[in-house]
Amino acid sequence: MLLVDTNRCCGCGICTTICPQGLELEVENGYAQIINETADCMDKAMRACPQNAIAEIKGKLVFAIGTDDDKTIKANDHVGMANFFHILEYSDGELIFKEKRANPKYNEDETRTHGDPGKAKATASALRGVDVLVGKRFGPNIIRLKNQFVCAIIREKEIAGVMDIIKKNIGSILVEKNNKDGRERSGIVLK
Ligand code: SF4
Repeated sequence: MLLVDTNRCCGCGICTTICPQGLELEVENGYAQIINETADCMDKAMRACPQNAIAEIKGKLVFAIGTDDDKTIKANDHVGMANFFHILEYSDGELIFKEKRANPKYNEDETRTHGDPGKAKATASALRGVDVLVGKRFGPNIIRLKNQFVCAIIREKEIAGVMDIIKKNIGSILVEKNNKDGRERSGIVLK
């Protein structure tokens, strides 16, 4: 499945010129949109995009959302301090809740300082198979976590709203995960 990252697309029209059978510019907002992802010229258009804005999603993307109460995203501290993680899978345009995992770090020595490498390790152990860690706040350990996951910062409170924002920004998340630019990953803020 192909996606256009609307946070990156500048509407230059290079892709639509190269591959009008596969892409067109949306009249309303000027972003490229996929009309036929199997068009023969699509690969050439993807490679020509100066913004690396066209990405392919293969299989599924796995998300973890930090929460204490199952309804709202962890807000009063950083995501690594959440009691639980909701694990969700994205594929074929759908984002589905799969399971709830306890955060083992929660029962550990809370006298450790934020940014303690042991805390990052404990958090990561609860997140096996996860591609994207979603939180409202990240602590200093984001420096360690971002090498393992895409760290997505979302200010929305309700988890239902967080899921809508994830679906809206799936292209940006995918581009960050694939990191074709070769730059060092940083957290991404999604709206
Ligand atoms: Fe230009 Fe890339 Fe957007 Fe196409 S997807 S309009 S090439 S920025």
